[in-house]
Amino acid sequence: LTEKFSRLVKTMSGQARITESNVQDMLREVRMALLEADVALPVVRDFVARVKEKALGQEVLGSLKPGQALVGIVNRELAATMGEGVSDINLAAQPPAVILMAGLQGAGKTTTTAKLAKHLIEKRKKKVLTVSGDVYRPAAIEQLKTVTRQAGAEWFPSTPDQKPLDIARAALDHARRHYFDVLLVDTAGRLAIDEVLMAEIKQLHAALDPVETLFVVDAMQGQDAVNTAKAFKEALPLTGIILTKTDGDSRGGAALSVRQVTGVPIKFAGVSEKIDGLEVFDAERHAGRILGMGDIVALVEQVTAGVDVAAAQKLAAKVKSGAGFDLNDFLGQLQQMKQMGGLSSLMDKLPTQMAAKASEADLSRAERDIRRKEGIINSMTPLERRKPELLKATRKRRIAAGAGVQVQEVNRLLNEFEQMQGMMKKMKGGGLMKMMKRMGG
Ligand code: GDP
Ligand code: MG
Repeated sequence: LTEKFSRLVKTMSGQARITESNVQDMLREVRMALLEADVALPVVRDFVARVKEKALGQEVLGSLKPGQALVGIVNRELAATMGEGVSDINLAAQPPAVILMAGLQGAGKTTTTAKLAKHLIEKRKKKVLTVSGDVYRPAAIEQLKTVTRQAGAEWFPSTPDQKPLDIARAALDHARRHYFDVLLVDTAGRLAIDEVLMAEIKQLHAALDPVETLFVVDAMQGQDAVNTAKAFKEALPLTGIILTKTDGDSRGGAALSVRQVTGVPIKFAGVSEKIDGLEVFDAERHAGRILGMGDIVALVEQVTAGVDVAAAQKLAAKVKSGAGFDLNDFLGQLQQMKQMGGLSSLMDKLPTQMAAKASEADLSRAERDIRRKEGIINSMTPLERRKPELLKATRKRRIAAGAGVQVQEVNRLLNEFEQMQGMMKKMKGGGLMKMMKRMGG
């Protein structure tokens, strides 16, 4: 997909504005992209129409090419459709604030109830009670008990022979008398839209008057999520969506469909099975995921801002004049890497496929690695930095002790430095500027 977009960006270059004729190809690509992402067809149609309206006649700013500008418009419209900014759980109610969880069986309601409990305890400092109204599967009540414990919240007992409405009322009464801030009500799953169960959750809603009615939906449902969302929207005044299992869904289309159909914000995304696998939903990031391209424009800007062009030119001139690449230059390069906003923030902006290759653990390791290397070079004297050939065993031991690392690590750094020096000699400066230019400098 990224390939297709870049081809398009190329074919549209040299044209100063987005017109009816040049926008058609682009919109076809956008349409394909959304269908590939498993967005429901009616939602795709609406979306493409909106993008077209926004794009037509728009002047293309500065150095951006029309294709790039359109990618920007698409990206922004995607993010806007999925909800701008972030919206946390609304607790503006006379305590206990009741949160009702609704959704199909297996969507992740019980798991998400515990994840939310943990979030509200840790981030909002609330006293949280959970209760299960799922009387159809005894294991479901036990499951909520277990995960509630993991979350550090309190669990209100219920049994399969009780009526969900009675359970809910008793739990609410208990929450009131024991000054809980929040009552999270987990409900029975539905395998499909089932009228009896829909009537039941409507009843629960009427009795509890929840401040949040959250529709929990499995991201892997793709375009099928649309019908489920419609049915729940018709039955209940939903206030928000939680999109679960985004870790297993590479396409991301459900978010767009569900948001469009319900008109309520996606508040959180489930990112793992674990109790802490819940993140505030980030529409912009998700937009990038849907198009599989990341926020390329922002990436280019960030790199341009981060690279110190003057320093790069100075370095190039120095290498060209034969003055040689020393450890000070090496240190400068490490610092530039850090300046570019940190590796992980850069990775956020890369297309999904690329970013997937570098896990977060890899990234924080890489950042730590840069800091350690800086530490080692900072333990050297100015003379040693200019003349690395002075670094023999005694000096290396002193430097290692100063930086708090093993001598082997100093050796590794020197090896890396020598490799880089070799490259610099080959490029003789000219190539270096070219490389920096390619990066946007
Ligand atoms: P419920 O029937 O709606 O209550 O769904 P459950 O909470 O029992 O979850 C069903 C399954 O989905 C369980 O195996 C969960 O561990 C899993 N699950 C829930 N949320 C997530 C998520 O965000 N990521 C992943 N990978 N698994 C999830
Ligand atoms: Mg459940």
